[in-house]
Amino acid sequence: MRVSRFPLHTLKEEPAGAEIASHRLMLRAGLIQKLSSGLYLWLPAGLRVLRKVAGVVREEMDAAGACELLMPAVQPAELWRRSGRWDEYGPELLRLQDRHARDFVFGPTHEEVISHFAAGALSSYRQLPVNYYQIQTKFRDEIRPRFGVMRAREFLMKDAYSFHADAASLDDTYQAMFAAYRRIFDRLQLKYRAVLADTGAIGGSASHEFHILADSGEDRIAFSDEGDYAASVEFAPTAPAAERAAPGAAMEKIDTPGAVTIDALAEMLDMPPAKCLKALFVNGADGGITAVFLRGDHELNAVKAAKHPAIASPLQFADAQAVAAAVGCAPGSLGPLGLNMPVLADHAAAAMSDFATGANEEGRHFIHANWGRDLPEPQTGDFRNIEEGDPSPDGRGRIRIRRGIEAGHIFKLGAKYSEAMDVKVLGENGKPVTVMMGCYGIGISRIVAAAIEQNHDDNGIIWPAPMAPFHLSLTPVGYHLKPRVKTETERLYRELLDAGVETLLDDRDARPGVLFADSDLTGLPLRLVVSEKNLDRGQIELKHRRSGETRMMASENCAGAVAALCADLLQSPP
Ligand code: ATP
Ligand code: MG
Repeated sequence: MRVSRFPLHTLKEEPAGAEIASHRLMLRAGLIQKLSSGLYLWLPAGLRVLRKVAGVVREEMDAAGACELLMPAVQPAELWRRSGRWDEYGPELLRLQDRHARDFVFGPTHEEVISHFAAGALSSYRQLPVNYYQIQTKFRDEIRPRFGVMRAREFLMKDAYSFHADAASLDDTYQAMFAAYRRIFDRLQLKYRAVLADTGAIGGSASHEFHILADSGEDRIAFSDEGDYAASVEFAPTAPAAERAAPGAAMEKIDTPGAVTIDALAEMLDMPPAKCLKALFVNGADGGITAVFLRGDHELNAVKAAKHPAIASPLQFADAQAVAAAVGCAPGSLGPLGLNMPVLADHAAAAMSDFATGANEEGRHFIHANWGRDLPEPQTGDFRNIEEGDPSPDGRGRIRIRRGIEAGHIFKLGAKYSEAMDVKVLGENGKPVTVMMGCYGIGISRIVAAAIEQNHDDNGIIWPAPMAPFHLSLTPVGYHLKPRVKTETERLYRELLDAGVETLLDDRDARPGVLFADSDLTGLPLRLVVSEKNLDRGQIELKHRRSGETRMMASENCAGAVAALCADLLQSPP
């Protein structure tokens, strides 16, 4: 392709309002352009990247035995009423009406449509298992669209749905999808982790998210520094702590004026926050209040806490006035002594001894407090986020925490949709059985942005070769001024195309500095520079975008050597 016919639409200026590198670079490199909040055009270079990612996904889905179909983006509301999600989904669901005032949605996902299809198309266990997928535009009216196509409103997703006669068959396909996802991210040369995820409201039996590692990621992932364990921070369980140390000095009540936060208390008492008890009051399951205590340096995990029978789900903090009325003291000096409500402590809080805690009197705390001796023994549980350095839940190694971008999600749905949408087949014994389902999503457009988060420098994008819009930028110096440069460039261009190298020839009449800057910005893995000076020596300069390394190549047989290099780059491990 020639830049004269394939406009790059690169921008010199920093685009306003782009907070993270990928968003900035996708705009500057001319991959996308904003139309409206969360709505983007994919410009020619961007579309080539999107298609490459989709291509790898398609190949691996096909290889894993899934079959592609295409469902409408617009779906009748009737199906959503039947599944119950017309009411449950909330404002993220874009609802529309046609000219007859009939309700429709623009699909944020397709469980309803595929289940409706399956209910009609599948009649016998002999047709199972089967796994359908599509690559299609979704719309979600995100409350905060941001970071360009990373969290857009309209975006491209691969979504797959599998159907099974029993749980064992669902297991097999789930494992096959897990393996296919690994191959997809490996082939795209991305650093990622497959993490155990909470099955949440859908209540399926297993779920993994695939996260592309990047400091700007919205999610935190906990993984073992030795074993394979990886889970989202929200999900990873913390182990009950080792035994609590024996109590020391007698408990003492002291004045702590103004020390109403853990940090202020720790500073006033000159002790680490880990020696202070953090008090939280949440709505109880019975309509009352429940007290939850954490070690001062730990964070509450709302998802875990809400699973405790004494805590209302979803977790909500109790009204401050109701707490003050129940305890007889305003927040800032609250503790476990004399509470007339369920008292829960996180495993690590329950293992503390000789700690500081509120005395339930304004401006006063206890020091040298101990469970059992001074305070009632609490009910213990796992109420906190796992932290860097905690033992790994699988017993192998210690936890490290990194940020990630959720790029894929696989989920055993069980019978949730098949029951609601009445998807039954005749089983082996001739009796109808409700089928089991799995669903498997990948954010194709989000992967493009996430890949850039992981692969860029100050000068621009550094594409992993398998998703680069082209493999090589052919950059002549003086194409329009020096006939010899033009002739040699054209010869090389033809040879490269013949050798199968996806080449972008920058034939613009612009200063070399402009061509080089755009070439760095757009991030193709290789660049060949043709100049009069090098031609005098029979040489062409080759530059690797990632390492910045340059070397001279003989202009004879240059195309063959470059083709071999490209083949290596397309295969290389992340
Ligand atoms: P998130 O927690 O980021 O909102 P999700 O749990 O809603 O994601 P799924 O419903 O599992 O996402 O959708 C499958 C995939 O679609 C996600 O893993 C992600 O890669 C992609 N995706 C979801 N929402 C968006 C969005 N607003 N913009 C771009 N991609 C998205
Ligand atoms: Mg979402």
